Amino acid sequence: MMNFIGGRFVAPHSGAYFDDIDPSTEEKIGDVPDSDERDIDDAVRAARDAFPSWSRTTAAERSNLLLKLASLIEKNLDELAELEARDSGKPLSLARMLDIPRAVANFRFFATAILHDASEAHVTDTTALNYTLRQPLGVVGLISPWNLPLYLLTWKIAPAIASGNTCVAKPSEMTPMTANRLAELSLEAGIPNGVINIVHGYGGKAGRALTTHDDIAAISFTGGTVTGSAVAANAAPRFKKLSLELGGKNPTIVFADADLDEALKTTTRAAFWNQGEICLCGSQVFVHESIYEKFVEGFVRITNELRIGEDIGALISAAHLEKVTGYIELAKQEGGTIAAGGKRVDRKGYFVEPTVITGLGTDCRVLQEEIFGPVATITPFRDDAEAIAFANSTRYGLSASIWTRDLQRAHRVAAAIDSGTVWINCWLLRDLRVPFGGMKESGVGREGGFESLRFFTEAKNVCVKLG
Ligand code: NAD
Repeated sequence: MMNFIGGRFVAPHSGAYFDDIDPSTEEKIGDVPDSDERDIDDAVRAARDAFPSWSRTTAAERSNLLLKLASLIEKNLDELAELEARDSGKPLSLARMLDIPRAVANFRFFATAILHDASEAHVTDTTALNYTLRQPLGVVGLISPWNLPLYLLTWKIAPAIASGNTCVAKPSEMTPMTANRLAELSLEAGIPNGVINIVHGYGGKAGRALTTHDDIAAISFTGGTVTGSAVAANAAPRFKKLSLELGGKNPTIVFADADLDEALKTTTRAAFWNQGEICLCGSQVFVHESIYEKFVEGFVRITNELRIGEDIGALISAAHLEKVTGYIELAKQEGGTIAAGGKRVDRKGYFVEPTVITGLGTDCRVLQEEIFGPVATITPFRDDAEAIAFANSTRYGLSASIWTRDLQRAHRVAAAIDSGTVWINCWLLRDLRVPFGGMKESGVGREGGFESLRFFTEAKNVCVKLG
């Protein structure tokens, strides 16, 4: 694999590569460039050179090119899904159904959004007319994680280039394959050289160089909260615009009047989809005490039916497997009961059984920290106030899911929960137009729809004196 700079595939300056591992076989499947600040510098220069002409293209021209790229991703869906599944360990069916279709949707969505965008005008009585120009920023840096590799990378590339910026993207070092294929497809689509540049490598080296580069106007980062803090510390003194989409510890609240069958079906999916490696996974479930036992029984039954390999993929790495199984051990030390799963699967690959833990309160670390694996806790609550307090008890505030048939309660609880998204009687039902992001330590800023286009442009007020 090589870096993609100025429309060409080039080796990293260091000449060094590290191994790309298939988490489900533990075998090496590729060589990843170990890039450093020299490669980032080359990529930024290519992006800077491409910016003047790209930023002058019409919205219709950019839209057409993005739509072409979307169609090429769609045409190559099977191959991309296979690459994604091998690289990340996720089930192939999930990559086919979720990851790659969403990458297609991301390009289509922003390709058409720019055709409908409008800006404000403020008329000052009869004295002046103010209008707001929204102009591209220049070269932007995009950093993405391994859990939804192409899905999240394109969620940044699409709005960045649709609004006239050029970009340098650094995908996760653990899942570079679909980004590499995207680079090839961008050439086939006719996206001009230098508009999309992709530099592979470690976060502490290539990623850090991107966040500290003087010619990068903005950083859009999705990843862990601790990394987000380092990114902010590096980018803020250089006055870069920043968007941070970080970790989560998302509560699911099931009230006594919920549709239990539907709640069980969806909350188990919310806990274990993508083996729990989705920032939005509902990893802590709070259930009204009157239905607690019945709910736990149903949740455990469905969990035990999940098939390793088909429903539950491998975790991303040996280190992550250690982390996740470490939390299962911690749960036992904290006094929890393992109601389902609890062990590494006895086969090749970093598979962990979907695990259900009961008997822990919100003061336990297992209920406070992001585990990011197939581990869910279930805890009973007494009343609405306690459910809200439990849901708001962590440092995170990304998403929540509420299950009730009581309309007033649903709206009241939604308003009281500190999170960027609240789902009522559903989970991960996404409309790409809505603001998406986190409160508290789950992030700063919102992406999605016009929020993304706002982020990737600078607002400039032009004031014209009238009369
Ligand atoms: P991570 O923070 O380890 O890495 C994310 C990206 O940042 C990678 O590309 C990595 O190479 C890079 N990076 C690492 N150190 C860096 C540095 N010092 N400077 C610049 N870049 C650096 O996260 P991860 O383990 O890849 O992903 C999992 C995390 O991402 C979880 O916490 C999850 O909740 C979060 N996540 C959040 C969202 C969201 O939308 N809020 C979506 C998906 C994942």
